Amino acid sequence: MTERFSGSFTQQEPIPEEGIAAAVAVLRHGRLHRYNTAPGEVAETVLLEQEFAALTGARYCLAVASGGYAMGCALRAMGVQAGDAVLSNGFTLAPVPGAIAALGARPVFVEVTDNLVLDFADLEAKARSSGARVLMLSHMRGHVCDMGALMVLCDRLGLRVIEDCAHTMGATWNGVPSGRHGVVGCYSMQTYKHVNSGEGGFLISDDAEVMARAILLSGSYMLYGKHLAAPGPEAFATVRMVTPNVSGRMDNLRAAILRPQLRQLADRVARWEARYRALEAGLAGVPGLVLTVRPEAERFVGSSFQFCLPDWSAARIQVFLTRTLARGVELKWFGADQPMAFTSRYDHWGYAEVQSLPQTDRILAGLVDMRVPLTFTVEDCALIARILREEALVVGQGPEPDWAEAPVVQ
Ligand SMILES: *Cc1c(COP(=O)(O)O)cnc(C)c1O
Repeated sequence: MTERFSGSFTQQEPIPEEGIAAAVAVLRHGRLHRYNTAPGEVAETVLLEQEFAALTGARYCLAVASGGYAMGCALRAMGVQAGDAVLSNGFTLAPVPGAIAALGARPVFVEVTDNLVLDFADLEAKARSSGARVLMLSHMRGHVCDMGALMVLCDRLGLRVIEDCAHTMGATWNGVPSGRHGVVGCYSMQTYKHVNSGEGGFLISDDAEVMARAILLSGSYMLYGKHLAAPGPEAFATVRMVTPNVSGRMDNLRAAILRPQLRQLADRVARWEARYRALEAGLAGVPGLVLTVRPEAERFVGSSFQFCLPDWSAARIQVFLTRTLARGVELKWFGADQPMAFTSRYDHWGYAEVQSLPQTDRILAGLVDMRVPLTFTVEDCALIARILREEALVVGQGPEPDWAEAPVVQ
């Protein structure tokens, strides 16, 4: 019998009951704005920031409206100006170049390796040719490069690093939390990430001046003294009159939903790993299907799964996607000509200068991507792997499909 999967690739787990109760309490008292507190009350947003700072070991933390906002705020706080070149991964998600472009700065894309991480030789070449002083490092789909080697290289090149940790909240490199290597770490709490408040973002940093600027930028007016995961008043003295207010605050309702989820993060990471490993084991050894290698030093969050079909034609990949979808497995492909839903590629971002990344093009042409929500069980993942394995064998070893017959998957 042909097996079929019937789960939803976009269904997250419910908000924990504790978070629902805390959200209802905020709704009942009505003080949703982070600076609107009763005498003696510490806002949910402030507690959330303290708790995330403690979780990551960062000195300072700021909660904001979205992950994209966090990145834009970090760039501004680090002094990036209109016209400046900012380096970033050639393989990333649209909000990353979007945050750079929103400042009038210029995204300069760096090649990625077969393991989907930054190519250090190309980073060095692009740093020199562009004159960039900042690297917006995207741990895209949770793949972390050798952070020790990267930081040595960036020090040598005079690059300051912002980490895009949208897919690495809860991950570590050699035991150090993702987001703690660069000057600033940025996170997203959008529904499809590792904690869910619909929208939301964090910045963490040990740099008092950068964090003071970020807090002012986020729309703190002269109420920055209410932040408790923040530098002292002396850090604000020189910047408070010259930093624009670019409102993008977190609110107490979302903070209330997030706090109990932070307490679940370590457990979620373990559950994601079990799902990831079931997929990995089920797909090992399929001819023509290449899995990414996960380094020993990396503790990753398996909230998505990637594999490459390096020698497959576009038509063959289209047939594979159509057949797996017919069996209930929803895949995304980075090789499509046109951007679809959340999936797009650097050459689709027409607001950036036209750039050529032949190595990244070759990798993305065969790159297949899948969401792994925690509503899937480990058995679900084993079933998905069986379906993918069977279809990869049939389609991979079948005759080359005719272009005209290859269906276009939407
Ligand atoms: C989701 C995401 C972001 C930022 O997301 P928001 O939707 O703005 O919260 C940044 N980088 C990557 C790689 C992402 O996937």
